[in-house]
Order: sequence, then C-alpha cells, then structure tokens
Amino acid sequence: MNVATTMDEEVVVFCPKCKTFETVWLTKGVIVRTQKFTQEDDRIFHDCGSNEACRLLRRFAS
Ligand SMILES: [Zn+2]
Repeated sequence: MNVATTMDEEVVVFCPKCKTFETVWLTKGVIVRTQKFTQEDDRIFHDCGSNEACRLLRRFAS
C-alpha cells in the first residue's frame, strides 16, 4: 500500500525495525505533523534509522 490519496486520513504507521506504532495524519498523501518520520516519495521511514519503509495501516474509525 502506498500513501497516495486525495483525502486527509488518519493512518497507523508501523516501523518494522523497532516495532513502533504511531498514528499520523496524511494530507493528500503527504505525512503531516510529525518529526519522527521522514517521507521519501510514497514511502515513510522512521527516525530510528530503519532502512525498511514503515507499513501503513488504515484506520476505519466510525
Ligand atoms: Zn523505528
């Protein structure tokens, strides 16, 4: 799954290296309001130094 979207949405980012879960917002596919993650194109990397892109898990809050 990539982050390309036309909507603002809340997603859970999971770092495969340090097993961190973090809730972040995406605006039009761009990660917002975080200093813990770096976005490169459609991939997001945690600042723990992981070389493996984080996984994005959509939340379906109702
Ligand atoms: Zn990490």
